[in-house]
Amino acid sequence: MNILIIEDEYSLADAVAETLQSEKFNVCIKTNGEEGEDEALTENYDLILLDVMLPRKNGFDILRYLRQEKIKTPVIMLTAKSEIEDKLNGLEHGADDYITKPFSMRELMARVKAVLKRTNNIEDTEMLEFGDLILDVKNAKLKCKENEIQISGKELELIEQLLLNKNQVLSKESIVERIWGYESDAEYNNVEVYITFIRRKLKLLESEVNIKAVRGIGYRLEIKNDK
Ligand code: CA
Repeated sequence: MNILIIEDEYSLADAVAETLQSEKFNVCIKTNGEEGEDEALTENYDLILLDVMLPRKNGFDILRYLRQEKIKTPVIMLTAKSEIEDKLNGLEHGADDYITKPFSMRELMARVKAVLKRTNNIEDTEMLEFGDLILDVKNAKLKCKENEIQISGKELELIEQLLLNKNQVLSKESIVERIWGYESDAEYNNVEVYITFIRRKLKLLESEVNIKAVRGIGYRLEIKNDK
């Protein structure tokens, strides 16, 4: 699946791209309206994430032009909270959904998947596995052999992110961005607190999986007796 991001805030575009890539999407970023529009007209995308305020050509004009040119690629508008009229405007011009900034990466993924599901029928990620550990995302249950435990809120989001990125170290910064949202006030010690909660649950489940702290960077999952 190919996704085009048209967004002039580099850090936001990068954070979104990183999240999408971790879920196996191919991503292209354009940081001004004209280049974004050209890209949308010439290449085949499954979805476009479109900012409103953009240099050279704004998101609404791009959307209107794409629809006029019979480009039916689904579009999710990324709008600032202050632009309250944007929702109506965007949907009027043929957007499939809109999302208000600041948003968490989890919220973004949920919208992306919902729109793709409506238009392409992609399957939800429902079971995530690592070692003897299984996360049933839909029913919010963490399982290990015969044991299972309910998990919710930030704990669920955090273990989900660790499982989705099981072969890499997730930095505290990217954890904050993905779970608390871009530009949130969450601190790194919020992350540490939730890591502690999840470790406790892993212990209760008697799982061989552990969350390893990589000093100065972040966290990744490991199997305890794995040499
Ligand atoms: Ca912008």
